[in-house]
Amino acid sequence: MSILVYTESENGKLKKAALEVVSYAKAIADQMGTSVTALAVNAENVETLGNYGASKVLLVNNEALKEFNAKTYSATLQQAAKKEGAQVVVLSSSANSKYLAPLLAVGLEAGYVSNVVEAPSSVSPFTVKHSAFTNKAFANTEINTEVKIVGLSNNSFGLVEADGSATVEDFSPSLPDSGVTVTSVDKATDKVSIADAEIVVSGGRGLKGPENWGMIEDLAEVLGAATACSKPVSDLGWRPHSEHVGQTGKPVASNLYIAIGISGAIQHLAGINASKVKVVINTDPEAPFFKAADYGVVGDAFEVVPKLVEKLKAF
Ligand code: FAD
Repeated sequence: MSILVYTESENGKLKKAALEVVSYAKAIADQMGTSVTALAVNAENVETLGNYGASKVLLVNNEALKEFNAKTYSATLQQAAKKEGAQVVVLSSSANSKYLAPLLAVGLEAGYVSNVVEAPSSVSPFTVKHSAFTNKAFANTEINTEVKIVGLSNNSFGLVEADGSATVEDFSPSLPDSGVTVTSVDKATDKVSIADAEIVVSGGRGLKGPENWGMIEDLAEVLGAATACSKPVSDLGWRPHSEHVGQTGKPVASNLYIAIGISGAIQHLAGINASKVKVVINTDPEAPFFKAADYGVVGDAFEVVPKLVEKLKAF
């Protein structure tokens, strides 16, 4: 019996969310009196997962899993879960996990709850708190199936270091035909990804045009942040679609979200409500974003942002 965690990596490097899901799984394992097994695919330095509470790592090295495919990854996880007799499977809330988890839930006949934000309040019955209604409310849900799948909201639990080390075991699942062949991948950007970022600096139509994006990038650079934008900005082609956040774009669960020249329409807020601290800079004191924000500056972005960058650089 164990808790199985799917730890995501990119180009062989474990993501921060991978360390967070292991930390989270360790908290469940302590409550259940069991141990954590991490599953890593084509990743390096996986023994570091022991520093966050994994006692074993199943390491899959297989070229066929180089590109994410929900069918082959689900088969891999199902076989790992059965091998380990997993009672609970934990995943992050990445875009890939959101494809993977429902397929896995069907394969393991498991109940699945996504957007979980805390360690279970009880493991018998197994009860998790998760966000609901686009992060406007929280719900507590019991999972009553034999195997339980939990999707942890990014940046909700944090990293917790543990005293321990992990043994690494090679694991070779048998893979089904994925049904597709990826012929090439064009990465939109090499910058900090919105999903992994601690801080996101986001611009809206108030910035008037793509020629003014330099100040957003300057602020992001000085803060080590990812850049994002509202939907109209990407629709207008000012920024790539990969930066569009909101209901129809990427979800953001950063520690700090800075919205510049964004009105705060309900569809935008739906994607960023899970961020811990929200700051808005807007000329219009009636902009709806001020109601959702923790801090607000009523002011012209063209004056406020360069001054902010200057102050932060002097820090
Ligand atoms: P605007 O609404 O034009 O707001 C610009 C803001 O900038 C204003 O508040 C203004 O006061 C301020 N401003 C102007 N000049 C300055 C200045 N110099 N300094 C500081 N502030 C200034 N939108 C999303 O973002 N994400 C989504 O996922 C999304 N999904 C949608 C789905 C559906 C089905 C629909 C119908 C809409 C969706 N939208 C989405 C669009 C959404 O409704 C809004 O139209 C959009 O979010 C507005 O973008 P904005 O705030 O950048 O622009």
